[in-house]
Amino acid sequence: MRNSRIRWTTHSWNAVYGCSKISAGCQNCYAEKIALKYKQTPKPWAAKYAKENVLLKPHKLKEAYKFKAGERVFVNSMSDMFHEEIPLDYIDQMFALMLDTPDVAYQILTKRSEQMLQYMQNPSRFDKICDEFRKMELVQKRYGTALENRISAFSWPGNNIWLGVSVENPKTLYRIDMLRQCPVKTRFLSLEPLLESLGEINLDGIHWVIVGGESGPGYRPMDHSWAREIRDQCVEQNVPFFFKQSAAFHTERGTSLQEEDGTLSDWEYFPKPGFSYRKGADSVNHKVCDTQLSLFAQ
Ligand code: SF4
Repeated sequence: MRNSRIRWTTHSWNAVYGCSKISAGCQNCYAEKIALKYKQTPKPWAAKYAKENVLLKPHKLKEAYKFKAGERVFVNSMSDMFHEEIPLDYIDQMFALMLDTPDVAYQILTKRSEQMLQYMQNPSRFDKICDEFRKMELVQKRYGTALENRISAFSWPGNNIWLGVSVENPKTLYRIDMLRQCPVKTRFLSLEPLLESLGEINLDGIHWVIVGGESGPGYRPMDHSWAREIRDQCVEQNVPFFFKQSAAFHTERGTSLQEEDGTLSDWEYFPKPGFSYRKGADSVNHKVCDTQLSLFAQ
């Protein structure tokens, strides 16, 4: 059963709690609100408290083995996978477990595109990931003498790893260029909370676009024309588009996109090899959502 209410995913896997704010999109961070409410992190998520707030949860690493084939898992939804305070060895361990569960699609979203690019382009990354895997007690127990055999089945980067960047305004569009340089099979954009028109976006090498307005107390407005402008570029370039929500107090309230003439339409497409919009399609296509995962499995 899914453990996430976010419609573009089915589960979350949080082996890190805590983050620090780095751009305008972080202003009303939902994860910070939850973490402070439940005392999961000690201080507000300002940069000066990052060392105290970014907390590793190694006991949660084993949860990777609980997910079932075909599930979509949002990795570190309560943090940022490439936060400077998360040790690279620990990120390697998380990637190793993702490679070891290739039938699960892992959705990794970051605002720290510089660190992501550096990590993904390191030529010795795969060796480091394998070394970390060898050292983990959890996998030593699981595989015993078959451990090296298991590692020989890994490929880097796995087909099941989806890498994405958040972009909220034109100033942060540079993150897309960095994502494009990352050698992964599925690259996606979370344009949420959308705070301004983004104008023309380079969608080369991008396989999925999610758009949404902000939610919660003090939410900032999103003009539907900004979302339509993105949707139109996606349709023109055949990139699956997912409209998550309007700007609203409640999360995922107003999940339809308002057209110029006031009519509403639902857009819930997911990435899929050979994706193509059906002629005249302007409504929810759950079939795409249901079938795409097996196509990404190795
Ligand atoms: S990067 Fe993400 S998790 Fe971190 S503070 Fe910003 S919005 Fe919150």
